[in-house]
This record gives sequence, structure tokens and C-alpha cells, in this order.
Amino acid sequence: MYLALLVWGGLLVESLFLLYRHGLSVAWNEQAANLFILIVGGALRISVRGVFLVVFVAVAALAPVHWETSPVSAVLCFLGVDLIFYGWHRFLHHHPFGFALHSVHHTGHTFSLSLAGRLPWPLRLVDDFVCLPLVLVGFSPLLVFLCMGVSFAAQYLVHTNLVGRLGPLDWLFNTPSNHRVHHHAQGPGQRRNFGAALMVWDRLFGTYQAEEGPAPFGLADVPASHNPFEIQLAGFKRFFAQRKQEVR
Ligand SMILES: [Zn+2]
Repeated sequence: MYLALLVWGGLLVESLFLLYRHGLSVAWNEQAANLFILIVGGALRISVRGVFLVVFVAVAALAPVHWETSPVSAVLCFLGVDLIFYGWHRFLHHHPFGFALHSVHHTGHTFSLSLAGRLPWPLRLVDDFVCLPLVLVGFSPLLVFLCMGVSFAAQYLVHTNLVGRLGPLDWLFNTPSNHRVHHHAQGPGQRRNFGAALMVWDRLFGTYQAEEGPAPFGLADVPASHNPFEIQLAGFKRFFAQRKQEVR
């Protein structure tokens, strides 16, 4: 509920600001496609919420230990969520089929809050389950769910071009500046800055790249489309075309 308020409130404020500053020169058709994808993706996510709750509670019953929820366990759980999201995001970029799915998020050419909702529909059904191992090692399902919510809010807020570099905060956190690098169409960006809320994993595992200046966003080899269904299918088309070439 709070996440939905943040998402729609943020979109409204940013849209009004963009309208005031840039008027009709903003790619509103791309923003509309992103919103359509967000609404369908949100509905898909809600449709599996019951399964999500049952599975999380069932796995919690199998956990050999149960950690009491405290400030320390909350910090550890949040670090666990952040590490899992880092690994999952990095896997989606490195595995060809993973990127066929995740590339939906990278085909947007405008870096704005609505881009955060431009996600592959199939992954909206399974994304929440990647943090299940934390329940199995003894964190409460509610705590894991809350940490995921905080992380999703942070990941949403980094998709804006209205905030520049933030000094020391760019060192520790995934900030708009760090995440812009991840969306750059050229350069090493798409193999850098996989972090969700923190940048510590990128720094530890050698995938950090600081922003060096403005650059175009999107994927250079995917044609721009504002049709949500074409956007969802573009990555698969590219994946199967590449497989066909490899077989020849
Ligand atoms: Zn990515």
C-alpha cells in the first residue's frame, strides 16, 4: 500500500515537473507504455500474492532455526535481501535467456521513474520468491517481506534524471547517478552497478562504475517501440534470432 502510494505519488510529481520544464518534448508515449506495463505487471504480482504467502510460511516451518526479529537481525536480513537482488540482477544480465527477459527494463530510452515499472511480465510472477532462502535460514517471513519492500522503494527512486551526483552517498548506495550508468546504451554500463539499494556488492565484486557524464539510455541494438506487447517480446525475438545464427 505504502509502496503503491510512493510509486504513484512519485510519478505524478515527476511528470508535473517534466511537463513544466520540457512540455511536449518529453517522450510521453514511452511514459504511457511504461505505465501500461507497470499496471499489468502489478496485477500479475498481486495474482500470485496468495501463493507467495503460503510458500513463505511453509518454508519458514522448515527452517532449522528462527532468529528473533531485532535491529541486528533486521540489518542482517536487509543485507541478505540486497545481496540476493545483486546476484539475481547480475545473473539476469549474464545469462542469455535471463537477459531476454530483463532486457525489457533496458529498452527504455528515457531515464525516469516510470522506467522502474517497465519490467518483464513473466518475472513479476517469480521475482518475490528469490528471497526465499532468507526464510529458510531463519528470518521471519514478515521481516523478509518488509526488507524487500524497502529495497523495492529504493530501487524505484533511483530511476530519475532529476537528481545529480550525491557525493559520499554515491559511494555507499545505489543512487540515480550510479543507476544511470547501468542504463547507458554504450560503454560498460550494462555489466556494471547491479546493486539494488547498496553499492557495496559492486565494489566488493569489481562491478562498480562511477558516472562519467551524460550518455544515451536504452539498448543500441533494439528498435524503439511504444507498444507494450512488442516491448515484452523484443528480448525473446533477439534471443531466438541469436540462437538461430549460432546453429547455422
Ligand atoms: Zn539491469
